[in-house]
Amino acid sequence: MKYSIIGNGIAGVCAAETIRQLDRAAEITLIGDETFPPYSRPMISHVLDGSLSSEKLPIRSSRFYDDLKIIPVLGSRVSAIDVDRRVLTTTDRKETTYDKLLIATGADARPVVAKGVDLKNIFYMRTEAHIRSIIECLPTAETALVLGGGLVGFKAAHGLLKRGLKVTMLITSGYPLSMQVDETAGQMILAELLKSGLTVRVGTSVMAFEGKGKVKRARLSDDSTLSCDMVIVGKGVSPSLAFVPKEKIKIDHGILVDHHLQTTIPDVFAAGDVAEAVDITRKRRWINAIWPEAAAQGCVAGANMAGRHVVYPGSVSRNVMRVMALDVMTLGLVNPPDDFGYKVMAHADRRRGRYRKLVFRDNVLVGAMLINDIDQGGILLSLIQNEIPLKIPDRVLMDPSFNFGKLIA
Ligand SMILES: Cc1cc2nc3c(=O)[nH]c(=O)nc-3n(C[C@H](O)[C@H](O)[C@H](O)COP(=O)(O)OP(=O)(O)OC[C@H]3O[C@@H](n4cnc5c(N)ncnc54)[C@H](O)[C@@H]3O)c2cc1C
Repeated sequence: MKYSIIGNGIAGVCAAETIRQLDRAAEITLIGDETFPPYSRPMISHVLDGSLSSEKLPIRSSRFYDDLKIIPVLGSRVSAIDVDRRVLTTTDRKETTYDKLLIATGADARPVVAKGVDLKNIFYMRTEAHIRSIIECLPTAETALVLGGGLVGFKAAHGLLKRGLKVTMLITSGYPLSMQVDETAGQMILAELLKSGLTVRVGTSVMAFEGKGKVKRARLSDDSTLSCDMVIVGKGVSPSLAFVPKEKIKIDHGILVDHHLQTTIPDVFAAGDVAEAVDITRKRRWINAIWPEAAAQGCVAGANMAGRHVVYPGSVSRNVMRVMALDVMTLGLVNPPDDFGYKVMAHADRRRGRYRKLVFRDNVLVGAMLINDIDQGGILLSLIQNEIPLKIPDRVLMDPSFNFGKLIA
């Protein structure tokens, strides 16, 4: 049996390992356009902030491909799939045939749309190569602009501050992390960021970059200009699927997959940030672009490709981050739509920097947001994932000392 996997990230690697465990004789080809060995993408920001050397990024040993008898085709980008002939074509026009295929190509950073984007020293922060370029630029930079107040924008701003740069973060919405938190939490986080020495401008976007060859200024939507020697763009990601034949493989935002992570074409699977699989709390297909789900999906897809019948239980979005003195955790659906009968209980204690928000649908916890009160986050996640009905009074649920663990035992 010939298996091909496109994407050398965590989803692709986990799939390859699972296939090898289940099919000793299989021919497994892993095609990836990065040349660096499989590495921890979330940790690249620690290379930027100087707390980790890039040699520590790999998640598998240098013998990984040999040990598992995987054929690596690295530095190679797939440009087309012919699902009728079962053939992949790479940009250098080489063809690879397959019996079973996994698309695990992750996501690309969403490009910024503004004049002057081709100037030097405007960077994205998705890959190890991006980080290398950013670090090369640091000695010549004093001021930096970070576009976007999401997770990547945060990590970029933190890293640049630690490197001693004067950093401005530009956020289009009214508060940071607007895709992850609500306004109450967003304002608490904003206040904390301002204490860190970061300049934050909300409700503002960039219209143009200016400079001679290299970026020197950004022209903003309020007609002001801002000096900057470098820019990092953190405006979100889009699934990397330009090469996917959309007339054959059904796509919504990502590649639509069933409970076995198979696409609408038999023997073609998708996993990780590129795949739109079932989301437990939303009760529909959704992309939760996080590392643990990409790993889990890679394993499930690999098992099903190798002939097992493993059902993917569905994902729950989650983020845990430290913002200066705040621990912030979000789980599941934290900003539910107003009109679907969700029950929301929230309590903020600004003096202590604490916030707890719980979201229920029919007595089942579907979302939780915690600031500085995150000890029980793991239990709350388990309650959400297992959809355990909670028939207890509201005042008990919101009591900070209530032990949710009792509900699982
Ligand atoms: C800066 C940063 C911080 C993050 N922090 C966290 C965090 O704290 N916690 C968390 O859970 N998640 C975090 N994430 C998200 C996490 O890294 C992703 O969810 C995870 O890496 C997805 O894995 P994947 O295998 O689906 O895709 P990827 O890791 O993106 O791997 C896909 C691979 O496929 C390659 N590829 C794409 N197209 C092609 C093609 N046509 N041909 C060949 N190869 C191709 C890509 O170059 C890439 O090497 C972070 C991401 C970034 C960028």
